Amino acid sequence: MHLDVNTLMVAGSFVSMLSGCFLALAWWWYRGTSAALFWSAANFLVGIAIGIFAFHDVLKPEWLVYITGLFVLASGLVWAAARRFDHRSAPPAVTFAGAAAWIVACLVPGFTAAGAVHSILGAAIIAGYTYAAGWGLWRDGRERLFARWPMIALLVVHGTLFVASIVDVLLGAPPNEDPNFGSVFSLVHFEHMVFTIGTAIFLIAMMKERSEVQHKKAATVDSLTGLSNRGAFMEGATEELHRHVRNKEPISVLIFDIDRFKTINDTFGHATGDRVIECFAAVARESVRAIDIVGRIGGEEFAIVLPGAAADVGFAYAERVRNGFQAACATLPGGAVTATVSVGVAICEGEACTFSEVLRRADDALYRAKARGRNQTVLARKSPASGMSRVVRIA
Ligand code: GH3
Ligand code: MG
Ligand code: MG
Repeated sequence: MHLDVNTLMVAGSFVSMLSGCFLALAWWWYRGTSAALFWSAANFLVGIAIGIFAFHDVLKPEWLVYITGLFVLASGLVWAAARRFDHRSAPPAVTFAGAAAWIVACLVPGFTAAGAVHSILGAAIIAGYTYAAGWGLWRDGRERLFARWPMIALLVVHGTLFVASIVDVLLGAPPNEDPNFGSVFSLVHFEHMVFTIGTAIFLIAMMKERSEVQHKKAATVDSLTGLSNRGAFMEGATEELHRHVRNKEPISVLIFDIDRFKTINDTFGHATGDRVIECFAAVARESVRAIDIVGRIGGEEFAIVLPGAAADVGFAYAERVRNGFQAACATLPGGAVTATVSVGVAICEGEACTFSEVLRRADDALYRAKARGRNQTVLARKSPASGMSRVVRIA
């Protein structure tokens, strides 16, 4: 079978332009993702270059060597796009270094006529940028986006094809992209279509996944403090409590309410009130372990769930946060405030508690802490179901 290289090139150019259009649309859709714009520009450049190559039989061979610079430039833009996707810097000096090196090489007498030399140089630069793009996406893989992995695979295959074509030329293969000559490089006509369509699909998928993760996060996080909001806290805490009841392990629930917060707002202003809330959240976050769950459950009300913590540990944590808050948040940008917090602590240990019941007991204890003068921790010892509903103040 004889493959018509011109037809292949026209098809390749069309595919590149089309995926460039999709990426430009995706950029317009997800404003702020400049990665799509850079990758789109790379695809348009490749489309233009392949389109010109389709006229290779009427163009001077040395002109085509200059046009190869567009492929080199496109690979620099792909590298920059991958960096930008992960919010890393992509200095223009690095992005355009390959294309600049190519132009300089073209000015060297004899370069444009030395087929093997410019094939090897072009393939080496393109492989370098492509592997660097794949490596960057791999290194930032902690952000769990499923589409990241097939994207990296496509980049690795693309880079490897150029490395293999260098080896092929070094072993004596003709530096020719016509598939009828059977060089490794001629596979690029087919691989390029898979690469161009695949990378456009996976880049758009990554952008969509990231946007979904951000929306999900916004729905569960309190915007002022960065802590879990009431809904997310309740969900996580209920799950954790059920697990501990099943495993017959203790668990502590702490409720905090900042004392006379309305007075702080009235005296220092709402903005300072917000700083007090932020300050409490920072102290609470820093005082607990990674396995603990901290949430803002109301305006100036917070809750902490301490898995595995019996009464003495729960009480000690409550006191650590209460004292830490008083010490850390006395001086704020809005002035010197006297901010204290009252705490109610309830424990579930060796009983089949529900989360709402433990929370209610902690709330009762908090109410008593307020009634007894505020700025103190009160521990609710036993659940009403166990017949010992008394609340004991320890400090
Ligand atoms: P107590 O010691 O009994 O808890 O008294 P309190 O003044 O703290 O309690 P109260 O419930 O009367 O007042 C809570 C105030 O918290 C009222 C509300 O305007 C304020 N508040 C709620 N959310 C926010 C917020 O996000 N920022 C600020 N600055 N104030 C808030
Ligand atoms: Mg309150
Ligand atoms: Mg209050």
